[in-house]
Amino acid sequence: MNGTSQRIRPPRETGARMGDLATLPVFLKLGGKTALVAGGSAGTAWKAELLAAAGAQVRLVWHEPDSEAVRLAADWPDRVTLLARALEPGDFDGAAIAIGALEDEAEGAAFAAAARARGIPVNVVDKPAFCDFQFGAIVNRSPLVIGISTDGGAPPLGQAVRSMIETLLPAGFAGWAKAAKAWRGRVMSAGLDGAARKAFWRRFAGLAMAHSDRPPCAVEREALLVEVERGATQGGGGSIALVGAGPGDPELLTLKAVRLLREADVILYDDLVAEEALAFARREARKIHVGKRGGQISCAQGDISALAVTLALEGARVVRLKGGDPLVFGRADEEIAAAKAAGVPIMIVNGVSAGFGAAAALGVSLTRRGVARRVQFLTAHDADGEVPPSLHLPSIADPDATTCVYMARRKLDRIMSAWIAAGLHPDTPARFVVNATRPDMRIVVSTAAGIAEAARGCTAEGPGLLMLGLALGPSADLGPPSVAATPPRSATRDVA
Ligand code: SAH
Repeated sequence: MNGTSQRIRPPRETGARMGDLATLPVFLKLGGKTALVAGGSAGTAWKAELLAAAGAQVRLVWHEPDSEAVRLAADWPDRVTLLARALEPGDFDGAAIAIGALEDEAEGAAFAAAARARGIPVNVVDKPAFCDFQFGAIVNRSPLVIGISTDGGAPPLGQAVRSMIETLLPAGFAGWAKAAKAWRGRVMSAGLDGAARKAFWRRFAGLAMAHSDRPPCAVEREALLVEVERGATQGGGGSIALVGAGPGDPELLTLKAVRLLREADVILYDDLVAEEALAFARREARKIHVGKRGGQISCAQGDISALAVTLALEGARVVRLKGGDPLVFGRADEEIAAAKAAGVPIMIVNGVSAGFGAAAALGVSLTRRGVARRVQFLTAHDADGEVPPSLHLPSIADPDATTCVYMARRKLDRIMSAWIAAGLHPDTPARFVVNATRPDMRIVVSTAAGIAEAARGCTAEGPGLLMLGLALGPSADLGPPSVAATPPRSATRDVA
């Protein structure tokens, strides 16, 4: 929220640089090329099979081949040539890749040296010093292929990730990837310009996500072509999605939020958005930090709304990513109005608001039968950065309510003494939750009278939420609902 007292800064484009990579995943075309495999250990046949599956002509040299290797050569006579003899220097001739399944250190060293002398990339199984490349775990939906590497750190972890992806990735994706290859020519010759072609493949990907249980058909392709052609002549195609990023834990993002993040061309994001959420975006998506935060240099709300509209009018799919739920203290109304005024389609995707995230972290229900019948979300921060003067104090003092106060951190002293003076019982259970749902979460437990003082001891940086109400206290202290519902209950018995 930018008050008049705050300095204004322009939106800042971020996230352009890639983090460190221990290894570069590259996908090697081996069709018709020679792959040398020097046999010597139990993994030999599997490596030869992998290379043969990738279309290589495998020259498998193994003095004493095991039964697996013999069987592989028999099954795939046109791809695997088994030479049951010692390795000879000539075996390296014409090889595009060399794998040594060799247990002996000296043998491995000699094999790697021979390959490297000829400029052939080499891998000696389980001997990192003699490896120019590594084999990752594979999820095979060919031509969609996923390789997973832990850089040799923990292959079982790679295997676990592989099985996770296996369960997530429907087998039908293979059909979509095959269709994409087969359709490329038709799409190229359809007379579409670059932008429309891009739009075609984006919608193709969206359809694949929606119908991953079956391959696409030619009718769908032609319909898509017509659709993007029409879109191109009408111009536009841009849109804005106001998306809630939740309070911090990336697992609290909705599936819809993740999909829109994946599809976005531009992401305008707030300070409170966790980095992990941005990781769902495509690498080439623009990520623009438009952070708004009390007391710090911020972008003007009008600039943010205008930027979103301008980008959408240029044809971009804009995701406006906001902390928590976009409809709670996020000035969504202004961004919706700006989009509507410009005729830009806008959709809203809920997120988990901080109050819900904090309640879950506290392990309490915001409502409790006979005790807490009303939940209210308040802001302690007006347009000028001050406590809003028009807050309805009797509601805050209501013992039946659970109250979540946003943006209250620097005002706890003031608001608590004002609210207690207005009738809020001083013993009302109070919690101040900083960084709710994040790994660095802190919970301050006290009462209405004590929370300001207690929260001063919490130095953790980050957003904080004040929660008040009987529902936050342990139920044992409240007694059965029939007792708790009687009028004197406003003198709460919970002192945390
Ligand atoms: N739209 C957001 C609220 C934005 S206002 C939502 O629905 O949650 C910003 C305020 O939200 C912060 O000042 C703080 O009071 C609260 N907040 C946001 N994330 C929080 C978190 N992880 N922990 C505690 N409070 C949080």
